Amino acid sequence: MSHNHHHHRHDSTGNIRIAFFLNISFALLELAGGLWTNSMAILSDALHDLGDAFSLGLAWFFDNHSKKSRDHKYSFGYRRFSLLGALVNSLVLILGSLFILSKAIPRLWNPETSNAAGMALFAIVGIAVNGAAVLRVKGGKSLNERLVAWHLLEDVLGWAAVLAVSIVLLFKDVKILDPLLSVVITLYVLYNVAKNFRKTVNLFLQGVPEEVDITSLEAAILSMANVDSVHHTHVWSLDGAHHVLTTHVVVENGTPRAEIVNLKCAIGELAENLDIEHTTIEVEHMGESCNLREGA
Ligand SMILES: [Zn+2]
Ligand SMILES: [Zn+2]
Ligand SMILES: [Zn+2]
Repeated sequence: MSHNHHHHRHDSTGNIRIAFFLNISFALLELAGGLWTNSMAILSDALHDLGDAFSLGLAWFFDNHSKKSRDHKYSFGYRRFSLLGALVNSLVLILGSLFILSKAIPRLWNPETSNAAGMALFAIVGIAVNGAAVLRVKGGKSLNERLVAWHLLEDVLGWAAVLAVSIVLLFKDVKILDPLLSVVITLYVLYNVAKNFRKTVNLFLQGVPEEVDITSLEAAILSMANVDSVHHTHVWSLDGAHHVLTTHVVVENGTPRAEIVNLKCAIGELAENLDIEHTTIEVEHMGESCNLREGA
């Protein structure tokens, strides 16, 4: 489900759209296949791929929508809309997982026969489709491309497990294997949902982005020329990739105008290296009263 984070995708909307339609049609095919073969494992994989398709759909939609620049209604722009999408995505996957678990767990005690040959057929198609996708993105250097490649590899492994189970079932009807694999796949889906959900909630709560350490940021500002002290430093993130910084910097008395301009430039560069794109610096002079100096 890491398909949706994509930092610089100015020309990749077409690829996302193709990937979305491939994923959604494959997921629907699996849904039908899972019902036809009476295989809970394939249904779990269908849910997983539906989640992937949903992420891609969101990425496609927000590729246009989130990039809409700020206006008088949303002064920070539309990036935070992607958080809403991520929340809905998590919710859909949680409900889907609970539904599958409610069907698969009783089958551990009362297993039903699955169509092993049909399962094998679907597994081979699944490996081919996801394997081809892995080969396409394998050479990618960016973090996002590597994340996508890794995710697709996991998808291939999931199908390989379905294939292995179906081959065993072809020779020996160990009915419990199918619901067992289904539970494992679904728990894995839930694990990923929980991980993404935590990140999304942290963004909503305006948590400090993981890669930013406020203490060392303030220390770096404090070490700059003419800086007497720093207070009221806040960092939060619009969407996990674009951050916001506000800080109050007290400069030594008599600091010339040009030095203050240099200082702001230096802080701006520091912020830029941390993916902070909205920086607000309040310059104060020693002895000037600031009601935000204590705490705040
Ligand atoms: Zn996937
Ligand atoms: Zn701004
Ligand atoms: Zn202040």
